[in-house]
Amino acid sequence: MMKEFREAGLLEEIIDSISEMGFVKPTPIQDKTISHLLSSDRDLIGLAQTGTGKTAAFGLPIIQRIDPKSRNTQALILCPTRELCMQITKDFNSYSKYLPKISVAAVYGGASIDTQIRSLKKGVHIVVGTPGRVLDLIHRHCLMIDTISFLVLDEADEMLNMGFKEDLDTILSSAKSERQTMLFSATMPREIAQIAKNYMRDPEEISAGQKNAGAENVEHHYYLVHARDRYLALKRIADVNPDIYGIIFCRTREETQEVADKLIADGYNADALHGNLSQAQRDQVMNRFRTGHLQLLVATDVAARGIDVNKLSHIINYNLPDDPDIYLHRSGRTGRAGRSGVSISVVHMKEKSKLRMIEQRSKIRFEQKKVPGGINICEMQLFNLVDKVVNAEINKSQIERFLPYIYEKLGELDRDTLIQKFISLEFNRFLEYYKDAPDLNQNVQTFKSSDRDRVRDNYIPARSGGKQGIFSRYFINAGSRDGLDKPAIIKLIASHLRNRDIEIGKVDLMKNFSFFEIDSSYDRETLNAFSGAEFKGRPLIVELTEKKPFDKPQDKKKFKRKK
Ligand code: ADP
Ligand code: MG
Repeated sequence: MMKEFREAGLLEEIIDSISEMGFVKPTPIQDKTISHLLSSDRDLIGLAQTGTGKTAAFGLPIIQRIDPKSRNTQALILCPTRELCMQITKDFNSYSKYLPKISVAAVYGGASIDTQIRSLKKGVHIVVGTPGRVLDLIHRHCLMIDTISFLVLDEADEMLNMGFKEDLDTILSSAKSERQTMLFSATMPREIAQIAKNYMRDPEEISAGQKNAGAENVEHHYYLVHARDRYLALKRIADVNPDIYGIIFCRTREETQEVADKLIADGYNADALHGNLSQAQRDQVMNRFRTGHLQLLVATDVAARGIDVNKLSHIINYNLPDDPDIYLHRSGRTGRAGRSGVSISVVHMKEKSKLRMIEQRSKIRFEQKKVPGGINICEMQLFNLVDKVVNAEINKSQIERFLPYIYEKLGELDRDTLIQKFISLEFNRFLEYYKDAPDLNQNVQTFKSSDRDRVRDNYIPARSGGKQGIFSRYFINAGSRDGLDKPAIIKLIASHLRNRDIEIGKVDLMKNFSFFEIDSSYDRETLNAFSGAEFKGRPLIVELTEKKPFDKPQDKKKFKRKK
């Protein structure tokens, strides 16, 4: 059963000790991190939520790589609190139970520094400490930071929250440069990315499970178009972002190939990556993409898994995935290493409920954007072109010999004509294409105003109690099949609405779902109250209904529970 730990390359002695601790199988972050750390000196960023086994993820390989014969301090683990210092120290001692003596010391504030100095003087291989105390000990020359080969920042986001930024900066900049730095964090806010950028070298980024908020650098946009206009919208998105560097996610291999073929035929720097290609073809495409020679990679989720590029400006969801986690995984490929990123979804009306589901599950907010029109695109392209001209490097020695001829040819044109002709050379292409470009937006109204309209059209005014006499009707994905009756539904709703003044109106109980009414002046509050809510282990979906569902039978389909 310990096969997977063995395969990662861990020593038998370590496997014995962790099996005594009840470890049977590596957790996802351990699976990815241990083999990396045992075989590579490359820096590493590990993103995973708490409780996912990060201590062993870095601890086991470090223990294995310590040289017990040397008395130098070889590893420094920085963590935010005294409790964590003690916990990590205890774990390390357990991991190394069957190895030749490896010594670990915990150093933290609020305890006698003299005792800690004494233990350091004996020579310890691994020091686990809080940043403030560690810095203090470095200043007193009791902790030799210039012998450290492994430096770990554990719970880096917490350390920053606790105000250790300056201490970390000082420690990191005084450590010896030939070291392996590992940073573990549950989230990746800008400041962490900054630390990674300043003090880590070409870090490998490993994330396991859902990153709870890599999203901080990522904006989520969506464009609402007719299904038939998907491809045209994609082109406009590419055109209005001339320097785009991104992945376009499709559902199937066929669709992937089709979209890539069309883009190539339309003159875009794009290619496809999917499982129907040979390994050699895939390697070639990946290489071109990785090195930036390819701007747009059209890929399936599976094929894109191996791509590790930190500089992506955009992720485009040509189709939305059914699973919110996959959306997060896709969008988390942009906005890395301190850069900001945009995750774009091209959706049609029927997919709007998917957006809402992703929002609720993933705690992100989608912003609706208008599909750029011809004029926006021409403007962007024009400015981009002008920037390129301004920034172009002049290779004097090489063009010198052609200049007389060029001056002779162009010398007759006055300055204005020359500028205009230069720009037109490239720009005409876009002008021509977008001359009579139609508006692709399926619904240019914003969420809010359309909600209002709905309320006005469908809802029955003048009921007692409603502050404005207007109720909004909501869909909720819970019904009699969940063992609920009307009072239970009301109780469920009320338990999420903190505000007791909100009146719940009529409830229609169905088998798989229900409808309920709430004073429409609380629309926003109601939707917020259910954001991220769960019921019986699944996301609770609450939406404003678009139409009165019983007027039009075909609308019922939309509310079917997904199997
Ligand atoms: P994190 O650092 O992500 O918060 P920890 O390293 O503290 O997570 O691990 C959380 C708990 O899971 C600990 O009790 C640890 O002993 C246990 N654990 C870690 N890895 C495994 C494993 N592979 N199998 C079983 N339990 C594990
Ligand atoms: Mg931890």
